[in-house]
Amino acid sequence: MEKIVIPYIAGDGTGEDIWKASKEVLEESVLKAYDAEKRIEWIELLAGQKALEKTGSLLPEETIEGIKFHRLAIKGPLTTPVGGGFRSINVYLRQVFDLYVCMRPVRFFEGLPSPLKAPEKVDIIIFRENTEDIYRGIEWKEGTPEASTFIHFLREKMNVTLSDDNGVGVKPISRHGTVRFTKWVIDYAIKNRRNAITVVHKGNIMKYTEGAFREWAYDTAKGFGEKITFDNPPLTPILPDNKVFFNDRIADNMFMQVILRPEDYDILLCPNLNGDYLSDACAALIGGLGVAPGANIGDEVAIFEPTHGSAPKYAGKDMINPTSFLLSASMMFKYMGLDRVSVLLEKAIEETIKAGIMTYDLARLKAGVKPVKCSEFGEEVKKRL
Ligand code: NAP
Repeated sequence: MEKIVIPYIAGDGTGEDIWKASKEVLEESVLKAYDAEKRIEWIELLAGQKALEKTGSLLPEETIEGIKFHRLAIKGPLTTPVGGGFRSINVYLRQVFDLYVCMRPVRFFEGLPSPLKAPEKVDIIIFRENTEDIYRGIEWKEGTPEASTFIHFLREKMNVTLSDDNGVGVKPISRHGTVRFTKWVIDYAIKNRRNAITVVHKGNIMKYTEGAFREWAYDTAKGFGEKITFDNPPLTPILPDNKVFFNDRIADNMFMQVILRPEDYDILLCPNLNGDYLSDACAALIGGLGVAPGANIGDEVAIFEPTHGSAPKYAGKDMINPTSFLLSASMMFKYMGLDRVSVLLEKAIEETIKAGIMTYDLARLKAGVKPVKCSEFGEEVKKRL
């Protein structure tokens, strides 16, 4: 029997609940898809609170080495304190492995609750540049010598007046970062027959970061020649299969567009912060963060993780929805070339939700549906594989 080695990080908060409910589902999906000719061998890697307790480090070197060696991992959410404390381990992992593409598909399927009248029109992939923008973490606290030096530099050299009681941050967006990201996404769109890409930016205000992102994205798209069609009016794209329709929207408008006319949008190409915000907003169109998977992809390594965080108030309660994690695993199987597992797993999840079996987050949005526990949902998916 062939072993498929997969490193995993269970994660903080609700991460353990989700992992317990998902582990056997994933094992069974591989066995079923390949008639027991393949099986998963898990390798646990530590990060976050569990790592701190066991090793004294939030992100031990063995975890970095393990991901580097196996070139992929699946991870649960990791907690980051707000307004102080340590910097995000999630962001650090994306930067250390140069995982510059964050991919977050948002697709409606039958049975999911939605605030929209026609949710079946939602089939959008958010691509978020994953290494630049304010997520570089270049910022200084108000009152520190670093903030003071920066404020003085702005005052003396750049003719910008800021009072000394400002906290300050830098928002870097590079040409090379935008070009490689845009190329990756256009290649993806062509290979996967997605036919529209919309650049989402706030270039009217942040001209040399978000505005430049838009400009460099268009320049990159022009390099694809006849494969790209440029047009701006909002219309449902009807194009030959091998062409990609390319346009852009200002970010605030985009938040309205995805609610009022989701059928006009296919792929959203976003700088880091816009993509982060839009991911949760779009997840709300199909029931919320409980069903929002994701992947962080670089040229060498990929890490698959749900869009949501550690939702600490539900930790240990066996309540949370494991679907985002399961769907992230499905993306991982596809990435590994194990498409059969991915198809089987997604079908079983869809059948379970269609049968009205759902955790609290979806059940509370559906009249007359009694929620099942996180572990029960896992068992129900496993039964349907
Ligand atoms: P969150 O953990 O994503 O949770 C926000 C809310 O979303 C939850 O209270 C819950 O809504 C809903 N939710 C999230 N995951 C769900 C699931 N699996 N099933 C059902 N509902 C789910 O966001 P947060 O509270 O802002 O952040 C908590 C911590 O997670 C922070 O430390 C943050 O830094 C971290 N975080 C980590 C990652 C990551 O690891 N990649 C990503 C985002 C945030 P209701 O309360 O309405 O039930």
